[in-house]
Amino acid sequence: MNIKRAGILTSGGDASGMNAAVRAIVRTALDCGLEVYGIHEGYAGLIEGGDRIRPLGWNSVGGIMHRGGTIIGTARSEAFKTREGRLAAARNILHTGIDSLIVVGGDGSLFGADLLRREWAGLLEDLVAAGSITRERASSHPRLLVVGLFGSIDNDAFGTDMTIGADTALHRITEAIDAIGSTASSHRRTFIVEVMGRHCGYLALMGALATGADWVLVPEHPPESETWEADMIAALKAGREAGRRDAIVVVAEGATDSRGQRITSERLRGVLEAGLNESVRITVLGHVQRGGSPSAFDRNLGTIMGHAAVETLLSGGADQESQVIGMQGNRVARIPLAESVLKSREINELLEAHQYSRALELRGKSFTISLNTLKTLLRALPHPPRRGQRRLRLAVLNAGAPAPGMNAAVRAAVRIAIDQGHVVFGVRRGFQGLAEDDMQEMAWMSVNGWAPLGGSELGTNRVVPNGPDLYSVAKTLEKRGIEGILVIGGWEGYMGAYRLFEERVNFPAFDIPIVCLPATIDNNLPGTELSIGADTALNNIVTVVDKIKQSAVAERRCYIVEVMGRRCGYLALMSGLATGAERVYLHEEGVTLKSMKEDLDMLIGGFREGKRLGLIIRNENANPTYSTSFMSSLFEEESGGAFAVRESILGHLQQGGDPSPFDRIQATRLARRCVGYLIEQAAGERPVGAFIGMEAGHTQFHPLEDMPRMMDVPNRRPKQQWWLGLRTINNALARSGPTSLGDEDDGTDV
Ligand code: ATP
Repeated sequence: MNIKRAGILTSGGDASGMNAAVRAIVRTALDCGLEVYGIHEGYAGLIEGGDRIRPLGWNSVGGIMHRGGTIIGTARSEAFKTREGRLAAARNILHTGIDSLIVVGGDGSLFGADLLRREWAGLLEDLVAAGSITRERASSHPRLLVVGLFGSIDNDAFGTDMTIGADTALHRITEAIDAIGSTASSHRRTFIVEVMGRHCGYLALMGALATGADWVLVPEHPPESETWEADMIAALKAGREAGRRDAIVVVAEGATDSRGQRITSERLRGVLEAGLNESVRITVLGHVQRGGSPSAFDRNLGTIMGHAAVETLLSGGADQESQVIGMQGNRVARIPLAESVLKSREINELLEAHQYSRALELRGKSFTISLNTLKTLLRALPHPPRRGQRRLRLAVLNAGAPAPGMNAAVRAAVRIAIDQGHVVFGVRRGFQGLAEDDMQEMAWMSVNGWAPLGGSELGTNRVVPNGPDLYSVAKTLEKRGIEGILVIGGWEGYMGAYRLFEERVNFPAFDIPIVCLPATIDNNLPGTELSIGADTALNNIVTVVDKIKQSAVAERRCYIVEVMGRRCGYLALMSGLATGAERVYLHEEGVTLKSMKEDLDMLIGGFREGKRLGLIIRNENANPTYSTSFMSSLFEEESGGAFAVRESILGHLQQGGDPSPFDRIQATRLARRCVGYLIEQAAGERPVGAFIGMEAGHTQFHPLEDMPRMMDVPNRRPKQQWWLGLRTINNALARSGPTSLGDEDDGTDV
């Protein structure tokens, strides 16, 4: 169907990242020649019509990405659930000439939009019969197209790995539990933290996994045993005896016992106070979880999905039935809306019918695995080794630059291995420490409290073993009887592991399984789309760039911000996408005088038309000659006074700070798989080394021998970089657009 005018609305509970979706939808649509109408206050605004439905222009969605909530407002509308309400909505849609609707909201909101599409012909018949519209009018508008985006903090939707807002909510929860943890630990207190999730335990489970909480209760997995209360008390007491200073119980608001009785925070408090004989504090996180500036991930998720929603409309993808846009394994996915809503709701219905095991199964394998991993990690003490079992001696080390999340990976690896009866040595200072036999046997409690810590507690360095070092490493491995090595690190870690693998013909001590877990903010490793630490670095960059942008509100100024990444442009492109940078310079694309001239002209034009702020993000090695300072001087000199230029080199703040929830969770998941791999390989005849990664939504291992084939060694990056495909979105959305119908401000903002 040839569409001309799209309507966009946000509905249900607000979620951080909705603004990024609104911006992307509006700008993509305008870029493709469509008109866009913003329907304010969700379905309530659609029913009300009038001023609630008005055009949105390119500049009216400028400078909104860093804001939580939704600039076009959201609401819950009982009236829309009635046919009268939908008749009024249809009349207003006809009145404004909207032929396609993009809705961002939860399953209720998306269901409502699909209902409107399905009823469309009947609604028009009723309007004609009532004399509200003419038959000609009705026949000129035979169909309404619908595309939905899941915006909901609960992450409870079928068809997408993440819903818009869930990652930000997890940020808020993690920050809160980290903060509560420090006070709880100071006073040796017990806290209950209640998080949102009436039917979905995602936030509670992932929040607990990311922070090292001591107990968790989620709707999909009610405590099975009749004695769960006594079991919980016993576990918390044992934790205290083992040396834990705090105890944190995370409970989802919809948690129940196996009979379906709610386990409220108050009920829990009663149980805990009686059992522990101490007073217990409750913190209900409530609406804090919805609020605040969206995480880098949610901004990019909203942007990518919003862009895809318009493309789906234009390509005819929603002509036959309503569609939902999802992200699966970093790729856009399109699924029929009705099926997606039905499956999303199925779990709620199962929970209401107390069919918990089926509900848990539908949540997916990774949910169950995370739950089981958490159960291991929160134990007060490990299971004792089984009688007669082979107890492997494993070494774990960090190598390369520090990356946030390394400690969470070490913690998980140590505990998971010890719990299975194995012995783990923590090596200090990477391969250097391995050469110098600088290691110690790790105990269960030696990694207590490591999940939230940035940096590397073991210590890391960039030494790649060579020459005599190789001999020393071999000697250490023999002396300690090491039977498997986990290298958690970046480029040097991978090179070091490969060196040992290559040299195993000369040193039999290296003929053991060696597995690499990707941890570097640069995200430049083979065999994985994301490495641990990159998400934290991205959030660090985005937070600072937001501040830089705010500092320039009153002046005509262009910022050139330099970010890390060595020769890998991941951080530059993704931070550019998340902050609305007009131009991103990458080593992968290079920088030419011609491209700088074009950008300069674009900036001069924009500033002359009233723009106040320009933003360029460049990778630190985008071009060695055209450095950040060179570019700044050039642009300032050539701007002809149209704008001033300031450079900002972000430096090491990008590497530091508390790891993001995603980095902690992913570190934990990968470490579990790596330990499993080492154990399995060590038992085999001919052990194989490997590097783990996430590709297209799957976690997989590649044999070490494939490493050189997959690397662009001179440029220190993988040969395949999936994210380069996102450049077109950034180019389409961030440039200065035409001032158009609906622009409410003077068009000054990125
Ligand atoms: P959240 O996940 O934040 O709860 P949601 O979209 O599921 O978001 P709901 O309150 O279920 O939130 O729905 C939001 C709005 O969508 C409702 O107020 C109503 O206007 C519309 N809606 C929901 N269910 C229906 C339905 N069955 N028929 C028509 N409209 C509906």
